[in-house]
Amino acid sequence: MTTHRYRRQEQFYPIGKEGQKQLLKSKVLLCGCGALGSVISESLTRAGVGSIHIIDRDEVQLDNLQRQSLYREADVLQRLPKAVAAKKHLQAINSEITITASVADLTAENILSYLDGVDLILDGTDNFETRYLLNEAAIHKQVPWIFGGCLEGRGQVMPILPGRRPCLNCVLPYSSAPPGGETCDSAGVLGPIVQVIAAFEVCEALKILTGNIQAVNRSLVVVDLWKNETRQIDLTSLRNQGGCSVCRDKKYQYFQTSSNGSLRGKGGQQAKAMCGNNSVQLRPSERVTLDLTELARRLQKVGSVSLNPYLLKFYVDDYEMTLFADGRTIVYGTTEIGHARSLYAQYIGC
Ligand SMILES: [Zn+2]
Repeated sequence: MTTHRYRRQEQFYPIGKEGQKQLLKSKVLLCGCGALGSVISESLTRAGVGSIHIIDRDEVQLDNLQRQSLYREADVLQRLPKAVAAKKHLQAINSEITITASVADLTAENILSYLDGVDLILDGTDNFETRYLLNEAAIHKQVPWIFGGCLEGRGQVMPILPGRRPCLNCVLPYSSAPPGGETCDSAGVLGPIVQVIAAFEVCEALKILTGNIQAVNRSLVVVDLWKNETRQIDLTSLRNQGGCSVCRDKKYQYFQTSSNGSLRGKGGQQAKAMCGNNSVQLRPSERVTLDLTELARRLQKVGSVSLNPYLLKFYVDDYEMTLFADGRTIVYGTTEIGHARSLYAQYIGC
């Protein structure tokens, strides 16, 4: 069945039967499974990438369906975490590969645990904080990764091969990142640009995983579908200029290296406003395990509650909270961190 399934891909000579074998042996990490992640994960699944680990912190919402092509109305009704819904849909497409779902937030503390044995990281995130974290971890572990992002009708994409090509910080240094700039919350995003940027990410992934390194794009690709503009910004000379503290000096903004060479977080952000849905995420600074059933029993006295094996939803006044077993909570109905914290303290406890 395997040979027949991938026949058209094997007929493409730079991949061939040997490349297909390499794909089936490959392990990729997909960080974020929203709009880009939907398209990327489906394409990689159909292409026969042998092991795909999806990490995503959110649940499926109705306003995701406009562009997050993997999800269905039933996922919204069942309040499924995206990673769990994605695994279910992807495994129905290809049962011969391994798909792992982690409902979690990628942090400085946990990122290394996701990188063991990974051949390639794909960017499905929606924020630069996580991308810089990914960039530093990828440089430290010498794992290739592919940066991609979309907003409005435009997007950009760039493969990063540690030690060989410029990194994200070479091209977009921390200092140049737009602080609190436009997000898909304020500017929106169109479905077609997601498909385009994801297609670039997946094709670069196929090149890297099959060893076709000479074919990997050396440019930052910028596409504006609405304005019908495409640009390729050549980056070959950038790394030689040697101004990057991350890939040249291994000086990390989001990490510090301990004496045994492992990475340690500098104490990441514990609360942040989320892109796109009028909410704030709160994360405990230490590892905890919540008894969601017990919490549901308590919260039923002050508001309405629904519970599934992955999360608890709590509705009170004009607010809604989603609590995960690892202690992470998303408070909907506000973008003010202080307000979200006080709601949490009021109903869940400190
Ligand atoms: Zn760099």
